[in-house]
Amino acid sequence: MEPEEKKRTIKVLIVEDNERNLKLFNLIMRSLGYETFAARNGEEGVMMAKEIRPDLILMDIQMPVMDGISAVDLLKADEGTREIPVIALTSYAMKGDRERFLEHGFADYIAKPVSKDSLIMAAKKVLEKR
Ligand code: MN
Repeated sequence: MEPEEKKRTIKVLIVEDNERNLKLFNLIMRSLGYETFAARNGEEGVMMAKEIRPDLILMDIQMPVMDGISAVDLLKADEGTREIPVIALTSYAMKGDRERFLEHGFADYIAKPVSKDSLIMAAKKVLEKR
């Protein structure tokens, strides 16, 4: 790996319609030194992902206009965004959800309320795997 590559700031796109959650996830990601971008629904998220090419996407599931599942389908169908890891964040945690989300193409899954530690751990783990 070239030194220039190593120094590049990690870009994280947060797709979340709840302002409080958005603020929280933003603070946590910035505490790690990552550069953050915000989108308020899946459609905006997909558009921004194509433009920004983030290293990681944090994706809410329940959102207006376009939900997180539909957004991931579009991201995975596009070769420009297919490789970007997406972590699902959702409050509707049920048994088997994790497996369902991973099968759907998400890199990881975190149940809300999201703890700072679990989000940091998941983000770092996914970024290391790239
Ligand atoms: Mn939501």
